Amino acid sequence: MKKDLRSLTFEELQKVIEEIGEKKYRGEQIYSWIHKKYASSLEDMTNISLKTRQKLSEDYELEEMTVEQLQVSQIDGTRKYLFKLPDGNLIESVLMHYNHGDSICISSQAGCNMGCRFCASTIGGKVRDLTTGEMLNQIYRIMSDTGRRISNLVVMGTGEPLDNYDNLVRFIRMLSDERGVGLSQRNITVSTCGIIPNMRKLSDEKFQITLALSLHASCQEEREQLLPVSRKYKMDEVIQACDEYFLKTGRRITYEYAMVDGVNCSPEDADRLAKLFAHRNCHINLIPLNPISESSFKGPRRRDALDFCRRLNDRGINATIRRSMGQDIDGACGQLRRRWKEGDGSC
Ligand code: SAH
Repeated sequence: MKKDLRSLTFEELQKVIEEIGEKKYRGEQIYSWIHKKYASSLEDMTNISLKTRQKLSEDYELEEMTVEQLQVSQIDGTRKYLFKLPDGNLIESVLMHYNHGDSICISSQAGCNMGCRFCASTIGGKVRDLTTGEMLNQIYRIMSDTGRRISNLVVMGTGEPLDNYDNLVRFIRMLSDERGVGLSQRNITVSTCGIIPNMRKLSDEKFQITLALSLHASCQEEREQLLPVSRKYKMDEVIQACDEYFLKTGRRITYEYAMVDGVNCSPEDADRLAKLFAHRNCHINLIPLNPISESSFKGPRRRDALDFCRRLNDRGINATIRRSMGQDIDGACGQLRRRWKEGDGSC
């Protein structure tokens, strides 16, 4: 099987180019075609000779995905892409417009094994990890489509990024590399449900990214109801791993908290959370649950969500309710991919 050129780092590509007997600067040109001009195929590389391209294509290719569906919100211009990979797998990526610029949310796996009870992405389990090239290409295809550079990137689509650790780390290095997009690591956020050993590894990578932790509960019992992974990685240990991450990197943790009516957003929950985070420098991002048809969990009423947030703020906690984007186009992550797979392409 041919290897995908888009996953190769600058140094790896240089090596391949030298191996096929070409000059080093050809490697620079090809890297730039892929990571600065977002080429879709070797044929796009017009200043590279046909002979060189042919030699390269003996063992390598530039894999491409197609847009299976694109939904555009009439409310705020959010664009939700459903991409089809060469092996037929479907993945979702979303572009959101904010005052400070465009933000893209990408997937890190096809499917997911984490089993969170309210999440559509995990229902069929994990099919496979995405390669570094496939993660990068979600961004490249969207930027080519809009003609605009992004200012923020979040790894919050389908999949658990820390369950695809090596490809994720390579992805962060390549995305922030000046020889490619050169996106500042401070504008990259990686969200995890709390895979402790890999959170520790990540804290040693010397990245300036933001780590977001999907907390979703104010105590261990509650968290177990929503996140099966918390039976293995206990809530207090996960928070401790977050503290260590902050200490090592100086980067403040974002805690994500999906508010689930009748489960985790009572006044008692707010008080427990306030106590837990009283002496921690962090931000809590409250997300009213986006209901999915496969579970009976609902989001809270608007007034209850506001009360919950205010109760946290009154106790000195830095919490905000996340603005919901693309309300009219199938908000919840993984829903588009799932409906499409079931053969109901009507969404
Ligand atoms: N696996 C990673 C990243 C992908 S999910 C993680 O768990 O963090 C990104 C975020 O969306 C997580 O906080 C996840 O819990 C949340 N999420 C998933 N389904 C949701 C839904 N239906 N409503 C609100 N948030 C949801």
